[in-house]
Amino acid sequence: MFRKISLTAGIALALVLGVLTGLILGEGAVPFVRPLGQIYLNLIKTIVIPVVTLSIILGVVSLQDVKKVGSLGLRTLAYFLCTTAIAVTLGLTLANLLGVGGGVAPAEQTEVQVQAPDFAQTIINIFPANIIAPFAEGNMLPVIVIAIFVGFGILLAGERGSRLVPPLEALSEVFLQIMGLIIRISPVGVFALILPVVAQQGIGVLLPLLGLIAVCYLAYGIHVVLVYGVSVAWLGKIRIRQFFREMGKPILFGFSSASSVGALPFNMEATRRLGVSEEVSGFVLPLGTTVNMDGTAIYQGVCAIFIARVFGTELTLVQQLSVVLTSVLASVGTAGAPGSGMIMLAMVLESAGLPVEGIALVAGIDRILDMGRTAVNITGDAACSIVVQAAVRKRQ
Ligand code: ASP
Repeated sequence: MFRKISLTAGIALALVLGVLTGLILGEGAVPFVRPLGQIYLNLIKTIVIPVVTLSIILGVVSLQDVKKVGSLGLRTLAYFLCTTAIAVTLGLTLANLLGVGGGVAPAEQTEVQVQAPDFAQTIINIFPANIIAPFAEGNMLPVIVIAIFVGFGILLAGERGSRLVPPLEALSEVFLQIMGLIIRISPVGVFALILPVVAQQGIGVLLPLLGLIAVCYLAYGIHVVLVYGVSVAWLGKIRIRQFFREMGKPILFGFSSASSVGALPFNMEATRRLGVSEEVSGFVLPLGTTVNMDGTAIYQGVCAIFIARVFGTELTLVQQLSVVLTSVLASVGTAGAPGSGMIMLAMVLESAGLPVEGIALVAGIDRILDMGRTAVNITGDAACSIVVQAAVRKRQ
């Protein structure tokens, strides 16, 4: 019977059960359940490092193809990076303006001090003095820098370096599978994480989650209409209505499955009908599915502000910049599969000096946020393919 329950339903059920049990049993149940939640968070923290490291190394190695496709690749990367930076900035701005997470009594764990390092130190810290330490400490930004260097090292080592690629791909697949397992036990994690929160702070803590959902979806909508709508019309020379009409199927599929990878075939078909050549869609869409995640970046920006507020602090400008930087990089490391953006949120929180425990607050509603962000992610890939196609046409 249990096998028939989908993961989404399992998580929703776990959320409701966690809330009810927390309300009924109160603080007495907390010591028994908290370790489970801690184990779940530890698993997330453990998996995030190898997954990010390997995807970034392999991402850089795939730049080999970018070189081959020349300006096509550069335009694609430029579009991906700019729109993702806009996305996370939009998320942060709306979350700040609309006061997401306000009105909640600061969570119990406020003793977790949020450090606000100064700007120069933040930059220096990105460059590790030691190759092992950032991995041991789970310090994301230097880990990313090391991964980028290893990727370029492999490229520069040519033939001999390329021998490393197949084993790294295999290893990456292994860790992605492990990540899939961790996502599968999310119902247990969600139950164990939400119970102590509700037991200690009462049901009122859940209300701001509605605000969080509203702000995320508002940002998703603005980004899709303004950034994608304008770029396909202005740079891609395609009517906005035509774009969204053709994109209906992939968007709906992405929304209901929360998987960019699953929506890829639909996206390919739709963009082809919008006049994108096989050469361009074959390059841009698979690459976008793995590295371009604007919806995920918006979600991470909004959640960072939300979690900071609930923990009773405000993010400084330097911390918000660090959220922008890590979210852009995290979107490269996020697999196009359900729930992976939440795992990457751990890395964004860590880099901003926020408690990773904050994930507990948003984990229960992650699927609702994931559906929207996946729809945004795939629309971004399609918009990019149209813009790149227009540039290619112009050159011919
Ligand atoms: N589910 C998203 C996707 O497939 C990734 C995420 O969790 O943010 O695009």
